[in-house]
Amino acid sequence: MLAIRGLEAWYGQSHVLQGIDLEVEQGEIVCLIGRNGAGKTTTLKAVMGLLEKTRGSVRFEGEEMLGRPAHLRFGKGLAYVPEERRIVPGLSVRENLRLGLIASPNKAQENALIARTAETFPRLAERLDQTAITMSGGEQQMLAIARALIADPKLVMLDEPSEGIMPVLVDEMFDLFRKLKAAGTTILLVEQNVELALGLADRAYVVDQGTIVHHGAAADLLADADIQERYCAV
Ligand code: ATP
Repeated sequence: MLAIRGLEAWYGQSHVLQGIDLEVEQGEIVCLIGRNGAGKTTTLKAVMGLLEKTRGSVRFEGEEMLGRPAHLRFGKGLAYVPEERRIVPGLSVRENLRLGLIASPNKAQENALIARTAETFPRLAERLDQTAITMSGGEQQMLAIARALIADPKLVMLDEPSEGIMPVLVDEMFDLFRKLKAAGTTILLVEQNVELALGLADRAYVVDQGTIVHHGAAADLLADADIQERYCAV
């Protein structure tokens, strides 16, 4: 579904991604792990089209995405939930969800889609008319994820969804990812909590200094303390 080949990216003169190769098949949860600064976020941004300078190939459902603007990639079914959430704090939960449909062809079914999202996210269902800023960090993160999912993306990229969230909500969130997978959503996950991520994912890639240094079944990586210590310790 997503095939990344030789992906390079720069911030100014800094050559941050030096040839990433990664694949995600339909219906999989794939996680990308690695220490701070390894290039995980940059990979997701490059796939979404949020960086100025990239090279290589990012094919989504067979179509080349590099060189295309982010909104077009969104239109093809790619979604991205950045680490910094970017919900609109002064708007209600419902209004934030509506924002996820602004560019969607399904906008006409807005109310039905909000109702469906509320079913998937019971915590948000109770808070549809609450101002987003009044919710906890974890609930805001749920909202950011729900807003990305409301338009039915084919593949959603999540950057550090568990960051700064209390454990009970993290468990809830990871249960939700399992349900989303069962319902057919494909997920590319960046996560600092390696054990949690490998416990959820089908396959994993380890990135170090802008290249993939290891990949395989998540269960195998979970059992490989050496790789985790070498490449994933913060
Ligand atoms: P983290 O867990 O710390 O977010 P990461 O693996 O996601 O780590 P990236 O954010 O992709 O790492 O960063 C890769 C490299 O690019 C790092 O050396 C980082 O300092 C650098 N970098 C990230 N963003 C920028 C930017 N906007 N301008 C310049 N350099 C950047």
